[in-house]
Amino acid sequence: MNAARYGAAMGRKEREQASWIEDTQTEPLDVCVLCGREGEMTDHHLVPKSQGRRQGVKLGEIPTVKMCAACQGFLVKTFSNAQLANELSTVEAIQAREEVQKFVKWVQKQPLSRGVRVH
Ligand SMILES: [Zn+2]
Repeated sequence: MNAARYGAAMGRKEREQASWIEDTQTEPLDVCVLCGREGEMTDHHLVPKSQGRRQGVKLGEIPTVKMCAACQGFLVKTFSNAQLANELSTVEAIQAREEVQKFVKWVQKQPLSRGVRVH
């Protein structure tokens, strides 16, 4: 190993330590694509994983969007996997649904911390 290379490796190590310190600070919050609330979001697969598999789409190739648990839960309970995969595979298509608009209007008034019953 030559000296320059060794120096580069050391530099990388220092950066890792610096980023570890940054990670302990508050991270910017994600925003739900449907209701716009900020907080911990989950990755919503625009094509349900089971449907993607059937269509030969690899899991890593399915586009995901940031969505809160309440909105995601609502979609899963309200629509079938086939509907989600075929009719609702874009955010625009999801937002165009009247049921979704009604739910979003309601859920926006709910605190994110509270679990929402979507039954
Ligand atoms: Zn939401």
